[in-house]
Amino acid sequence: MTSSILRWALIGASDIAATRMVPAMRALGHRVVGVASNSAERAAAYAAANDLPYATTDVDALVGRDDIDAVYVSSTNEQHRRHVEAVVRAGKHILCEKPLATSMEDATAMVDAAARAGVLLAVNHHLPGADTHREIRRLVRSGAVGRPLAVRVFHAVALPPRLQGWRLGGGPGAGVILDITCHDASVVNPLLDGVAIDAVAMSAQQGPWGAQSEDAVVAAIRFADDVLVQTHDAFTVPFAPTGLEVHGEEGSIVATDVMTQDPIGRITLRDRAGTRDIELGDRRDLYQILLDAFAAAVRGEGVPTATGQDGLAALAVAHAVLRSTRTGQREAVR
Ligand code: NDP
Repeated sequence: MTSSILRWALIGASDIAATRMVPAMRALGHRVVGVASNSAERAAAYAAANDLPYATTDVDALVGRDDIDAVYVSSTNEQHRRHVEAVVRAGKHILCEKPLATSMEDATAMVDAAARAGVLLAVNHHLPGADTHREIRRLVRSGAVGRPLAVRVFHAVALPPRLQGWRLGGGPGAGVILDITCHDASVVNPLLDGVAIDAVAMSAQQGPWGAQSEDAVVAAIRFADDVLVQTHDAFTVPFAPTGLEVHGEEGSIVATDVMTQDPIGRITLRDRAGTRDIELGDRRDLYQILLDAFAAAVRGEGVPTATGQDGLAALAVAHAVLRSTRTGQREAVR
């Protein structure tokens, strides 16, 4: 495989595939060959609506096709393991949605299975590849804030009506922690070189929708060298900007509107020299950045913006937060 153009199959007739991923794939010249759904009716309607040549309920038949290079798994979270394992059996490369799985056991098995089969497994964490987050990492690594002491993540948003389904249910993949906290971890882990130690957290059910799972959470997570990370994630906050701040001994980074799906946001650096905006050059679609890196990794050039291991590490943080909301105790990240 030397081409940058991939031929994709979709597992999951999902909103994210229709609204973000298929448009991003097509904008890069990739082809989308077909979709698998649990319902023949939904598969057919989805294929028609998204101009896909092939629709099926038979995952193995779809992923076994010769005209497919890679598979994008965007089914609901508790199905990710089953679907990824089917793709691994077919020997195709995989881009799996986050959270990688609903348990660490499942996620570890998925990463191991892909490694054994020699196929690429990447996770659709769109934030780490964003220009804003690459720049924040570059600033921290270059010593712009000195020794990092604290990170604050504001990722409280309003859940749009069209997504007010399984996320608010009582299933194993529901709730704001698996939905959003794992995204926070996907940027904080690489920023702090990935060594999360433990977490304490408190969640709530704030929305008018009678959710069976948490729709808001605040967490405190300790990383190596006693760096403290604070997160606020919610489905219930319509007007707050998202953001990420890094506070160090020599300076502070304040990044606004950077925890979103769109290539927006600004970064300000504050230190002894004053306060200044950091110039950002790359405003490409975040999913196109991710797909470009994925296609390059398939060609053997570089690594995806979030590898299977990165997805596993992000899930480990989210799971410690989830466990802490249930036990009321400090929980190890493992
Ligand atoms: P959707 O609810 O749109 O789709 C998930 C599944 O729900 C589909 O695969 C489909 O099952 C089923 N479904 C969809 N519409 C209907 C319907 N009208 N009636 C019955 N079933 C339906 O989920 P999302 O697109 O929001 O999320 C999918 C995955 O993507 C999740 O893992 C999520 O965490 C992740 N995600 C990631 C984002 C990112 O930025 N990286 C953003 C949003 C989501 P079937 O395939 O069987 O038809």
